[in-house]
Amino acid sequence: MKITHHLSEEFLLDYSSGALSEAWSIAVAAHLSKCSHCRALHAKLEEVGGSLLSDSTPEGLSDDIFENVLDRLDEAGAATGNGVRHNSEWASRYGIPAVVTDYLAADANKLPWKSLGLGVSQVVLETKDSSATARLLKIPAGKKVPHHSHKGRELTVIFSGGFTDETGSYGPGDIQEIHGSTEHQPWVREGEDCICLAVTEAPLKFSSVAVRLAQPLIGI
Ligand SMILES: [Zn+2]
Repeated sequence: MKITHHLSEEFLLDYSSGALSEAWSIAVAAHLSKCSHCRALHAKLEEVGGSLLSDSTPEGLSDDIFENVLDRLDEAGAATGNGVRHNSEWASRYGIPAVVTDYLAADANKLPWKSLGLGVSQVVLETKDSSATARLLKIPAGKKVPHHSHKGRELTVIFSGGFTDETGSYGPGDIQEIHGSTEHQPWVREGEDCICLAVTEAPLKFSSVAVRLAQPLIGI
């Protein structure tokens, strides 16, 4: 796996110091589970972050949430007590890490995929985070997602397939970080559906009027 798009130091530092809420932390942990480069940086920052956390707890942060995500990350790759990981076969086929599957139903055939229209489907992860939403997205091979911009930040971690947009080309393990002003149109690679985790803090704003009108149906 050749990873070319990494976490920004800003996100990594926030994560290491426990300042990220649950949904963002899942995306960061998912990338870390794939990327030795960022894991090494994280290890360096963790010491700094640990002392920051002990000095002051950032407003609105629950220690439990941070610890939960760290625990899940530690468990990544390790078997649970009974030796059976949730969704293990399905998840490994698509490169989905434990930090994500732990939020999903045990039976991959019973995942509540919901159509967003345009062939795109999603499963929203059940977190306690009210400030951001984490969703697993499945976008058909060769699909062009309508042009849209974002109000807030968005983190996308690719597990299988890939896409290209104005900011570059993204494949398995890559993380894309988007800030409010970016307008983009991801084009999914041919030959393989793109399965990724997307974390957003605000509803997406589509540029096309038709899609904007349909947005309540699309629901993101
Ligand atoms: Zn990385």
